[in-house]
Amino acid sequence: MGKITLQHVNKSFGEVAVIPDINLQIEDGEFVVFVGPSGCGKSTLLRLIAGLEDVTAGRIDIDGTDATHLPPARRGLAMVFQSYALYPHMTVRKNIAFPLKMAGLSEEEQEKKVQHAARILNLSNYLDRRPGQLSGGQRQRVAIGRAIVREPAAFLFDEPLSNLDAALRVTMRQEITELHQSLKTTMIYVTHDQVEAMTMADKIVVLNAGNIEQVGSPLDLYHRPANLFVAGFIGSPR
Ligand code: ADP
Ligand code: MG
Repeated sequence: MGKITLQHVNKSFGEVAVIPDINLQIEDGEFVVFVGPSGCGKSTLLRLIAGLEDVTAGRIDIDGTDATHLPPARRGLAMVFQSYALYPHMTVRKNIAFPLKMAGLSEEEQEKKVQHAARILNLSNYLDRRPGQLSGGQRQRVAIGRAIVREPAAFLFDEPLSNLDAALRVTMRQEITELHQSLKTTMIYVTHDQVEAMTMADKIVVLNAGNIEQVGSPLDLYHRPANLFVAGFIGSPR
C-alpha cells in the first residue's frame, strides 16, 4: 500500500498560485524525489500530500481512497521532520513511542514496536538516552524511528539531512536508501540537491515555479532531459 495520485492539484496563497496545476502518480513502493530550486514549491507539494495544507482545488487519492479532505492523522502517511523536531526532555524510547502513545496503544505494544524500529535503525543500545546525548546521525535515525513505528503507507521526507555535515549526509543517504530496500514502502523525498536526487530516486519529479518540468528515472533525466531547465538543473550534457 502506498499509491498516491494527484489530479489537477492547485494551491494558492491569496492571489498567488504557488502550485498552478499538478498531475502526478506515485506507485506503491517507489522512492520518489521532488527536486528543484529553493522556493519552487517542493515543501508545499509535500505538505499538501501530508494534509498539513489544504488544496485550493484538485484531488488527492491515497490507495484508491479520496484523501483530499482527510486530516493528516487519517492519511496513513508519516512525515519525517529534521532531527531537531525531537523532544529534548524525552528519552529516545519515548520519542519513538510518542505517536503510538497518542494513538492509545498499550505500553507493551509500544515497547514491541519501539524495539523493532530500534533494531532496524541500530538504536537498540541508545533507547534510554536523550537526544542531546546522541550524534547528529543518531538523532536523525530517531526521527525516522518515530515514523517507522506508525507503519505508514508512505514516508514523506522534507530535506531531512540539510542540517547535517557533508560526510554524515552521504552516510544517511545510504541508510535511507537501505531502509527503503528493506521496508519496500513508498518514500517521497524532497531535496534541492541534484546529487541526492540522482543517487536515491527510482523516480525524480523536477519542479520549477510550481510546475512539473519532467518526471523520469535518473537515467531518463540524464540522457533525455525534456528541456534546458532540466538539463541545466541535473547537469546532463544536453
Ligand atoms: P521549496 O520547498 O521548494 O523551497 P516552498 O514550497 O516552501 O518551496 O514555497 C513555494 C512558494 O510558496 C514560495 O514562494 C513561498 O514563499 C510560498 N509559500 C509557501 N508557504 C506559504 C504560505 N503559508 N503563505 C504564502 N506563501 C507561501
Ligand atoms: Mg522546502
